[in-house]
Formats: sequence, structure tokens, C-alpha cells
Amino acid sequence: MAKKKAQKVDESSYSMETHILYGKNFSDKWDYSHHVTAPISSSTTFRLDSVERGAAGFMQFANTLNLDPDEAPIFIYDRLGEPNKDMLEENLADVERGETAVSYATGMGAISAVLGILTRSGDEIIAHKTLYGCTFSLLTNWLPRYNIKTLMADLTDLKSLNSLITSAARVIYFESPANPNLDIIDIRSIAAIAKEINKNRTESEKLYIVVDNTFATPYCQRPLELGADFVVHSLTKGIGGFGADMGGAAIGRKEFRDLLLLYRKDMGAVLNTKSAWAIMTYGLPSLALRMSKIIQTSIKVAEFLESHPKVHFVNYPSLKSFKWYDLARDQMTDFDGNFAPGGIIFFSIKGKNADERRAKSSKFMDYVAVNAYTLTLAVSLGHSRTLIEHPASMTHSVIPADKLLEKGIEPGGIRLAIGLEKADDLILDLKKGLAIV
Ligand SMILES: *Cc1c(COP(=O)(O)O)cnc(C)c1O
Repeated sequence: MAKKKAQKVDESSYSMETHILYGKNFSDKWDYSHHVTAPISSSTTFRLDSVERGAAGFMQFANTLNLDPDEAPIFIYDRLGEPNKDMLEENLADVERGETAVSYATGMGAISAVLGILTRSGDEIIAHKTLYGCTFSLLTNWLPRYNIKTLMADLTDLKSLNSLITSAARVIYFESPANPNLDIIDIRSIAAIAKEINKNRTESEKLYIVVDNTFATPYCQRPLELGADFVVHSLTKGIGGFGADMGGAAIGRKEFRDLLLLYRKDMGAVLNTKSAWAIMTYGLPSLALRMSKIIQTSIKVAEFLESHPKVHFVNYPSLKSFKWYDLARDQMTDFDGNFAPGGIIFFSIKGKNADERRAKSSKFMDYVAVNAYTLTLAVSLGHSRTLIEHPASMTHSVIPADKLLEKGIEPGGIRLAIGLEKADDLILDLKKGLAIV
């Protein structure tokens, strides 16, 4: 057993902006205390000094509640756990104000895992009607095969929610802001409704709230503090930050860590070590710096778009015209409590009807795809470069065209995910595109 680290600093009085640079500073997950940047631990398997140590390692795995938190881990095999992922997980839990985080190969891996551990055949999920396309597909194409049904509802309207929650409901699932239209869901109010319902439920019947916080990133919103039970992330997006690595994470209470680990072990959506290292070394430590700049730029770009005569509407939480401005102002805040409206804008070009808007938006995107220096036509978000895409044709193409409006998605809607460019340069390119439609 490795000796405990001698140096321990009281880290509690430092700000989160500094914390995301240092993480735990001295981690129990790493025994080489002289590296300033943790080395990449690229080893699928780990040498065991004795059979006894091997047995102890297997005993330790997914036995979180019985472990001494300061005990040095015994690593066995990458799919069970290894230093880089474990360190990243400690830091992700910290930044989301959760007790524990488990990483996955992708955001979809994390979402599958949380829904996988919370449901069984016969259970129901209640989800907001507007969701990332692959999450929608998971809920409608795959989970029904295991007799897990999803009810899609408008969770921006809480009056009807109580009547939708049957005794089989185990999960309320949503994104806030939602992908792609930025619907904002009142996390505190939903948590209060679930709390009331759970008063009369046994442990195995409990209803859990799962929030996909990918759009906001923990810099702009911490759903666990607002009452959610789980946060899921695509680390591929804002936390990874540079579009170089895929990853996912589930963050929540410690009591769920073992199930999340066991699910990952057996389903196999394990985050690769090199990606864990990159996200831990570059992505997360630069999150506050990147997001504070991205927010300033997004505000300017959203205001420019809103003032443009050819723009039909702009959804962005800092705009006074935004439908959920007050709610967003209340629940989307940075670590110091300032309004943090995020880096995603959803807008459409004007047209006589949905078909014309869709055609004009496509023309606009085709133009910028070739002629803009700063706008890249590509899916994904939270990249260093600003990415523009058409949800109806791309990220949300799993939704049939005649169902788009019902799902809250304007067929001509354009999703703009702001990067690190200077705002004026983005506006220059947007102006050029708007001039030709
Ligand atoms: C991209 C995305 C996901 C899926 O993440 P992957 O890392 O691509 O699997 C889930 N939710 C939201 C909101 C996303 O934008």
C-alpha cells in the first residue's frame, strides 16, 4: 500500500476558477507526486505484486461505500479504472458539485449508463420533447426493446407534469438548455415535484431527475445544486473544448458510483486513457477562461442577429425577448453567481412559411460553408472554432420532417455554437451570408 501524501493543503477557500486548474492538487489516484502535469498512464493492465494484492484489487472495485477515501487504489485493468480517468472523474465531480463522477467513452455512453442503472423492464421515463437526436433515438428505438417506455412531454409547462407521472415512472430526463432550440426547464421546480412524489415511494420505486448539462457546461449551470439527482455530459463538447477527443460523464451521489462503474465495465463504453488525459490537462482547466470569452461573444452575436431585418427569431438566454429569460437568469450562473447564458444560439432566417425558411436557411449555410473564414458547417459544439449546423437535416434528422414543429424544432432553425474567435469577425461572416438570402 502506497504511503499517503504528506502535503495536503486546505483547498476549500480557493475559487472554482482556480480549482479547475489544480483539481484535488494531490490526488490519491496517482502515485508519482513529482509531475506537475500528470503523465499519460497508457497501460491496459497493471502489475500485481501478489495474488493477495490482486484479490484486494477485485474486492476494492465497485465497493466505494466500504472504501477508506484515502486508501491508495489498486489498479487492475483499464476497463475497471486507471489513474487518468479516475483523476478526471474527481475533478468533474468537484466542478459539478457532485459527490462522484464516472467517465464514459462518449456522451451517449454516459446517458445509456444512467438510464441503464435506473430502469428495468416495465419502467417509464418522462422526457422533454426536445432532445439531442441520438438521445431521442435511444429512448424511442432501443429502450422500448427492453420494455422501457418513454413519454415525451413539454416540461416547460409544469402544470400537467403531475398527471403524467405514473407509478411506473422512474426517471424525468431533460436537457436545459435543450438541444437545439434552447428550451429552458425549471430544474428547481421539477426537483420539488419529484421530492413530493418520492415521499410516498419505497427505495426501489423512486423517481430520479437526470439533466443533460452539455449545452451549459458546469461553468454556466450546476443542476445538482438545483436539486437534480444526476448530471450527464458529452465531454466531447464544451468540457473537452477543442473538438479533439470524445468523452462522456455521469455525475451524482456516491451511492450510485458502483452501479455506474459496473455498467461501464460490462457494457464497455470506457473512456480511452489518452482522451481522459487530454480532457483533464487541456479541456477542463481552460473551461472558465473559454466560457467567459464565449459568453461575451455570444451576447454580441445574438444581439447582432436579433437586430438584423432578415432574421426571423433568435433564441439566446441573455436576450430580453427570450421566452425563458427570467428562469435562465435565475438558474444559469457562473461560479460567482453572474448570469452565464452559454455559447449556443438558435435562430432562423425569415420566410413566408416553414418551407421557405428552411430553403433560405439552407442557402445561407451553403454560402457560409464555402465563403466564411470563421463559420464552419459541422455538427458538434463547444469547439474552439464556431460551428454552424442545420438540426433538421443533421443532428436531429432522426425526427421526421412533419414532427419537427411538434418537437419544438423550427425546420429552418440554425444552430450556432460559438467558439473562441473575435465577435466582430463572426459578425462579418454572418453579415456576408445574410446579404445573399
Ligand atoms: C453531443 C451531445 C450528446 C452526445 O454526446 P457524444 O459525446 O457525441 O456521444 C448528448 N447530449 C447533448 C446535448 C449533445 O449535444
